[in-house]
Amino acid sequence: MKDFLFGKTLNELGETVSQLALPRFAAKQIADWLYKKRVKTISEMTNISLENRQKIEEKFDIGVSLPAKNQISTDGTKKYLFEINHDKKAFVESVYIPESERATLCVSSQAGCKMACKFCMTGRQGFQSNLTAGEILNQICNIPDSESLTNIVYMGMGEPFDNIQNVLKSLEIITSDYGFALSPKRVTVSTIGIIPAMTEFIEKSKCHLAISLHNPFDDERLQLMPLQKKYSVGDIIKTLRNYDFSHQRRLSFEYIMFDKVNDTPRHSEALARLLRELDCRVNLIRFHQIPDSDLRPSKIENIDKFQKYLNSKNILTTLRASRGTDILAACGMLSTREIYY
Ligand code: SF4
Repeated sequence: MKDFLFGKTLNELGETVSQLALPRFAAKQIADWLYKKRVKTISEMTNISLENRQKIEEKFDIGVSLPAKNQISTDGTKKYLFEINHDKKAFVESVYIPESERATLCVSSQAGCKMACKFCMTGRQGFQSNLTAGEILNQICNIPDSESLTNIVYMGMGEPFDNIQNVLKSLEIITSDYGFALSPKRVTVSTIGIIPAMTEFIEKSKCHLAISLHNPFDDERLQLMPLQKKYSVGDIIKTLRNYDFSHQRRLSFEYIMFDKVNDTPRHSEALARLLRELDCRVNLIRFHQIPDSDLRPSKIENIDKFQKYLNSKNILTTLRASRGTDILAACGMLSTREIYY
């Protein structure tokens, strides 16, 4: 099978052209065709000589593909299904969320997920495969709405920091001048808090960071997120306090609200203590009921009290609107499980 060009960084394209004995400047030309002009075939790279294009074609394909399927919600949210072809087939979903002044794509970084979070359909389907940088970027470039995208969030299927090297490569291409040239302020990566990879991300990338927290108490968080036992809430926050989030880079905490599980005054008080004097915001998220789960969405009045308490402690808090629930595109609802079983 041929290697793919799409998803290679400029340095990697430099190695590629040198292996093919092409001039060094061909790396930048190829990056332009891949990431700016977004061609679908090598033969379209017309400022590269025919002979050199043939050399490239002998060893490489572009490596882009269109979605296999899409669904449109009544609120305009669109869910796309992409096929991933490694040793065996896998599938991932991406969600396009149009709003009045921006359009966000929620991308997947893995097919399935190892983390087994109790509230998440992806967690239930187990892990199939890491996505390559090209497969992550393909979701951005090959949806019909690609040109209108203003923001990218890594909050689809998978734990991005369990696939850190491919995620970092994809972020480099999204934010570099030779790539999509999107500001890092337009990109957010979400994690449950895998500390070594989180540290590497903070040091190598300027994109925003979101921590899926969901409970300030370790023992209770463990009930929701069994794979967090290696990294305690205290250690995650201690690590974050080593970095400055007061300027461009934003730190946020995702907090899905479950009835009586994490929405009581005991939780809001502990959360405020935990985040004291940290430059951050808390995004409260309404839970979307999933099948065969004891978890229930918090009552509106409890979400309201929770939010008011955090605000009274000077913690900026937002309540995220639910989008795409009718097509199972909302937070925690992505799954391609039925395709496998
Ligand atoms: S919430 Fe995120 S980390 Fe947890 S199982 Fe779902 S995709 Fe994986």
